[in-house]
Amino acid sequence: MVKNVLVIGLDGVPFKLINVWKNRIPIFRKIFSRCVYAIFKSTIPSQTSIALPSLFTGKNPGKTGVFDFVDDFENLVRIDSIKHPKLWDILDSYNIKSLFYNTRIIYPLPKTNNCVFIDSGLFSRITLCEPKKYAKYLGNFPKECELIELKLKKGASQEEIANKVIEFIECKYDIFKNIILEENFEFILYWIGETDILHHYCWDNDNLILKAYSKIWSLVNKIIEDFEDWNIFIVSDHGAERRPSVNFYIDKWLASKGYLKMKTNMYIFSVLYLIARKVLPFEIRNRLVKRNRKDRKEYSKNTNMKRFHGIDYEKSMAYYSRNWGISINRELVGSEYEKLRQKLISDLKSLEYKGKKVFREVLKREEIYNGEYISKVPDIVLRASEDFQLKPGPSFKIFGKSEKDRYGYVGSHNWARDGIFIAFGPDIKDDGKFIGEIQIYDLMPTILHVYGIPIPDDVDGRVLTEIFSERSEIHQRKPLYTKISREKTIISAKIKELKRLGKI
Ligand SMILES: [Zn+2]
Repeated sequence: MVKNVLVIGLDGVPFKLINVWKNRIPIFRKIFSRCVYAIFKSTIPSQTSIALPSLFTGKNPGKTGVFDFVDDFENLVRIDSIKHPKLWDILDSYNIKSLFYNTRIIYPLPKTNNCVFIDSGLFSRITLCEPKKYAKYLGNFPKECELIELKLKKGASQEEIANKVIEFIECKYDIFKNIILEENFEFILYWIGETDILHHYCWDNDNLILKAYSKIWSLVNKIIEDFEDWNIFIVSDHGAERRPSVNFYIDKWLASKGYLKMKTNMYIFSVLYLIARKVLPFEIRNRLVKRNRKDRKEYSKNTNMKRFHGIDYEKSMAYYSRNWGISINRELVGSEYEKLRQKLISDLKSLEYKGKKVFREVLKREEIYNGEYISKVPDIVLRASEDFQLKPGPSFKIFGKSEKDRYGYVGSHNWARDGIFIAFGPDIKDDGKFIGEIQIYDLMPTILHVYGIPIPDDVDGRVLTEIFSERSEIHQRKPLYTKISREKTIISAKIKELKRLGKI
């Protein structure tokens, strides 16, 4: 008999915390003693909005086309813009009753026959669920946006935020217990997004983080105890580290090497930017310094969404784009493209500031991503070191001290790729073994394999066959694959929608 799967997401938990917890949190040690575990490699950049679509589809951002919280027109990314089948599409088509609890990024909530969605209220700011009949459980459901408001509007201390985080997680667990009585769920994804907010506000306070996690692990243990005979995966979508203290003005660096051209005088724009950064509130500043929406629309077919007044993109060979890479102007450089790209990569790889390497990784886009949206990926993909923040636009200096964060964050994770993967349950090995590095794309095919469901053959992830115990039935069978064309998926989604509306 197939054993069900429970995925517990601990948003933004870095792999390095496992060592701390093993020694300091007894309840974690107990859970951990019977698992297999791995470094769960996130996407670049390592942000929920990009990582989760990859986790849900088993595919890299070059296929999902999601590269930010917002799309090229600065609207919140819609999950239905991804045409590849998501985990719930497939589970739904096999009539597996599923619950996606306290989710982020799944917007708008899908309407399916067998899946229940409860949104965390981070971006939506309101309580959302699908189907609507679940709203009856959500009267006092705490919304994640309130944690951020607590800091921004009420100036809450780190202790107050950490306490609220625990309060939210406890309250949501109580609501969860009621929801699971409603239906015999066969798959559950239980996301805890509050941990990411905890890291953003409290990362420099080791004691507080440890204290919060002793409570969080007791709660996770309660969830686990309710699902004794399920296979359980505890994962995070990215890591966490301290907020960078040094700004690297990458367009200025490119200008200093002669690759980037200013439209008029860099000096005038640099003065304007300096004033704008100091005196204007972020929203206004953002509107003034960047080109307007109409301009952006015109450029979105290329790879760049944030374009700055003052930079002559047509005459520039290379410029910072998407906040995580460098785009090369192919029309301008022609056959010199590869030579220029190689030169930039080797210069950036060796770039140092005060004895510290600025980058952890500098990659050609095709080294890390593939798919129909590859042209939207910057030609060079960057992963800065923990100390460095990458900044676009005109500037006087190449390096500078980073200003205070507008959200009051002390923790950050743009380049923190190493998340956690901890697996245990009736079909999983219990020898406490570390299995190395795995990819965030591997989870979805692995889940489908547990249920014996064919996996779309264009996934980038693989089934983690090494985690299953030799005694288990899953270990005996080979993963099944199926050809799912994008067209077919779109058509079947349309048919389903029409059926739901009673039109066919
Ligand atoms: Zn996250």
